[in-house]
Amino acid sequence: MAMSRWSYRADQAVFPLLMAAAGAASLRHASIRQTEEWLGCLLSGVGAWTFLEYVLHRWVLHHVPPFKRLHEAHHAHPGEFIGTPAWLSAPLFVLAWLTLARELSRPAAGGAAAGLMAGYLAYSLLHDAVHHRRATPGGWLARAKQRHARHHRPGARGDFGVSTAFWDRLFGTATTIRCNGSRRRGR
Ligand SMILES: [Zn+2]
Ligand SMILES: [Zn+2]
Repeated sequence: MAMSRWSYRADQAVFPLLMAAAGAASLRHASIRQTEEWLGCLLSGVGAWTFLEYVLHRWVLHHVPPFKRLHEAHHAHPGEFIGTPAWLSAPLFVLAWLTLARELSRPAAGGAAAGLMAGYLAYSLLHDAVHHRRATPGGWLARAKQRHARHHRPGARGDFGVSTAFWDRLFGTATTIRCNGSRRRGR
């Protein structure tokens, strides 16, 4: 939904606080082995987020009402501050943390939740930068901007990953621009 610049970027303040809370709550009195378990789950959570990002973008944001309509507004006006507000996203991640805590140990649940949040925060920062920041030509941000610009082309059905192109490559939805400028859809 359309937001002010500050609401749009509230994620960038809220999620570091949530991650700190997940870290503090799950690492209090933790042993070395539990800390290692926490770190392993943190990395797994980041990886899991990249897959979730792909799934949510490809199938939910592009097909499921009312998310589809809201996401179409973002596609139509990519420079505007249209996205998921922190008051909606943050409780969902807390719910994920509580759900994980029912199944896993305290360090594992806290680490996985912090990893999911770190992945979401990275996605949020990158998607903001892709649409609102200048990039050094040839740099990683320029490449991310180019990949996401391909996704924003009218009628495009690929390049759903913002944080990474890995899942697009795996599922055959990565697109490329040929040397002659024509566009090819990946498989
Ligand atoms: Zn999209
Ligand atoms: Zn976008």
